[in-house]
Amino acid sequence: MREIHMVDLKAQYEKIGSEIDNAIKSVLVSTAFIKGPDIKLFEEELQEYMGVKHVVSCANGTDALHLAMMVLGLKPGDEVITTDFTFISTIEVVALLGLKPVIVDPEPGTFNISIKAVQKAITSKTKAIVPVHLFGQCADMESLLVLAKKHDLFIIEDAAQATGADYLFKNGTTKKAGTIGHIGTTSFFPSKNLGCYGDGGALYTNDETLARKLRSIANHGMKVRYHYDDIGVNSRLDTIQAAVLRVKLKHLSKFNSARKAVADHYDEAFAGCPLISVPERAGYSSHIFHQYTIKVKNGKRDELKKYLESKNIPSMVYYPGPLHMQKAYGYLDYKENDFPVTISLCKEVLSLPMHPDMEKEQLDYITLKVLEFFDK
Ligand SMILES: *Cc1c(COP(=O)(O)O)cnc(C)c1O
Repeated sequence: MREIHMVDLKAQYEKIGSEIDNAIKSVLVSTAFIKGPDIKLFEEELQEYMGVKHVVSCANGTDALHLAMMVLGLKPGDEVITTDFTFISTIEVVALLGLKPVIVDPEPGTFNISIKAVQKAITSKTKAIVPVHLFGQCADMESLLVLAKKHDLFIIEDAAQATGADYLFKNGTTKKAGTIGHIGTTSFFPSKNLGCYGDGGALYTNDETLARKLRSIANHGMKVRYHYDDIGVNSRLDTIQAAVLRVKLKHLSKFNSARKAVADHYDEAFAGCPLISVPERAGYSSHIFHQYTIKVKNGKRDELKKYLESKNIPSMVYYPGPLHMQKAYGYLDYKENDFPVTISLCKEVLSLPMHPDMEKEQLDYITLKVLEFFDK
């Protein structure tokens, strides 16, 4: 049996390596390292896949969030509501721009932002909501759209973990995660479902004015060469990364289906184990399983992790600590028990190996060892 990894980019490269090599080689030969032709082609291909009017590429997913906050013209002191249970990027950029992060609890089942909690957190200073489509499944966007409309708020979707997930509206139509709010952001960090071979990111919007301004801000606020209309930043996707992404985008649907098959296998294996709670699947979203995250209900999560380690099975705790308890954000003055759902999730969650190249033998071995732990 192959060695088991959380994410196995080596196994993937063994399969698509020759396509990748050719794509990178063609950029090397052209020397068009910045804003080469692959950038525009990749943006167009991703637009098509996402069913969105504009894709603006940038340097990484954190920058994408930063650019989104900049382009909406939010002012210092404006409040931005987001979830306590996510990667740090989301509140980092809010804080950097002098905006006020307002943290709320997630739902214990889906791990995504709680609509009730958002509703309670809205004040006259609230300007935006940032739902994160965590672990590959959409937040409850239809409810958020209603709230945003009622209170005149922007929605910025952090879709870094959900490239390819479909949101299902009550009227039967679907949209891709990241294309539902005013702006969506994503990351092409290597381990993401659509990952490149370094850093990369992008924004989605259907609004042409926003798209034009985003392009400008991501390139020093430059409108015409050496004329600057906005204060901008330098945040561009490298052409080499765009070339890699063009190859990987072609395989994305297949890769996401393979992840789902792994999740189904795990679900089935754990169905009879009352101490494991498998990830809840919301009726309004497909799930592309960026992570497969169980909750261990007997307080022995860390013991299980160690046991698996001893059997050469890696696992990870995403996320070990809530945002509201991080030292850097102490100035927000939250108390530990302000967000009890996150606190309990941080103690129970465990993400198991999940990638498109998992072999049945590996899966059988992992599920056997997990169940063995609970039978001891
Ligand atoms: C990965 C990730 C980001 C940041 O992306 P980078 O490209 O690493 O900057 C932001 N939000 C979420 C939810 C992520 O998972």
